Amino acid sequence: MSKIAKVEPISVSYPEPNDNGAIRNLTLCRIETTDGIVGWGEAISMWPEACRATEIVISGMSDLLIGRDPLDNGVIIRDVAARSWWYGPEGIAAFARSAIDIALWDLRGKVSGQSLVTMLGGAVQSKIPVIASTHAFSASLEDEVKKHAKYVEQGFHGFKIGLGKKGDARIGYEFDRDVNFMKMLRESVGPKADIMFDRGQHLRWDASYATRLTMAFEEYGLRWIEEPLEPWDLQGFRQLRSHCTTLVATGERCWTTDQYRRLIESGIVDVVGCDPGRVGGITGFRELIGLVEQSQLWFNAHAWSSAIITAASLALSASSSRSLLFELKPIDNPMQNELVEEPFWHVDGYISAPNRPGLGVEVKDSVVQKYRMP
Ligand SMILES: [Mg+2]
Repeated sequence: MSKIAKVEPISVSYPEPNDNGAIRNLTLCRIETTDGIVGWGEAISMWPEACRATEIVISGMSDLLIGRDPLDNGVIIRDVAARSWWYGPEGIAAFARSAIDIALWDLRGKVSGQSLVTMLGGAVQSKIPVIASTHAFSASLEDEVKKHAKYVEQGFHGFKIGLGKKGDARIGYEFDRDVNFMKMLRESVGPKADIMFDRGQHLRWDASYATRLTMAFEEYGLRWIEEPLEPWDLQGFRQLRSHCTTLVATGERCWTTDQYRRLIESGIVDVVGCDPGRVGGITGFRELIGLVEQSQLWFNAHAWSSAIITAASLALSASSSRSLLFELKPIDNPMQNELVEEPFWHVDGYISAPNRPGLGVEVKDSVVQKYRMP
């Protein structure tokens, strides 16, 4: 019988062309069995110090995994949670739990010959519409409009643009210029393409400004506004929602099912953001899907790191009718296009959950080593 033999955390550091070439970091977890089967997980730990701390916690908990049957992933992850409550359940403890959980599901699937979506009960959605998840870099709005129109021509159902990000675009800072940008985008891509905006953390909008801007975007058919305010500003979100019918997306900064339950009960959200590399892996994300389904809301996978998170997020999104779309980064990048044998891409604007065992991705060890944090 296959038993867990080795648990190895590996942080990687890589340039992200979709983020204007910025260096980003994350922590992978590689779990190997006695018969050489390998499962991969990931935590979106982002900052070097968080990556190092996540590595230490994963290594420290390896004794809870070694010698265990990979088919017991649910029992093992409960043991991991039971030990880390002392310094968790959020933060570094959640990153470590997330990476371990995803690797255990991958391993379980490979040992049993089942894909993740099969283990989740099957694909409720056989294919999901894909949008391009972008940042704007260019000082020229005309260039940015052309760039985004091209994504729609290539088959994407639309795009979500991060505002206030790196580069020279400076979108999200000037009301009239931003509304004009929205107008130009809509005129260029036609009435059907999805256009969404996601406020970056550098932008400080108050409730009145966020409401006014969302109302102006709404005139041009904004699909949703993401993180328009800080997540704790419940009063601000209520003000915005009382004036707009645009869907409001938030939640990607939550760590636990309990936090998601409170967010949903607050009544401020339509589209709940979630990343398995942060919320306790596939196990944590699945708990959120249960809450979203009960509440008749929507969820959206954050999925802006490696193909490991994309694979997990895609199976989870396909396992429910409550996900609206799936995000792909449109520019080739190391952690999507180099890391795995068959990178994710859409077919005529749609994507399906992988059907190979486990996560369904073949991670290249050589690429992991190439980007390994020194
Ligand atoms: Mg976001």
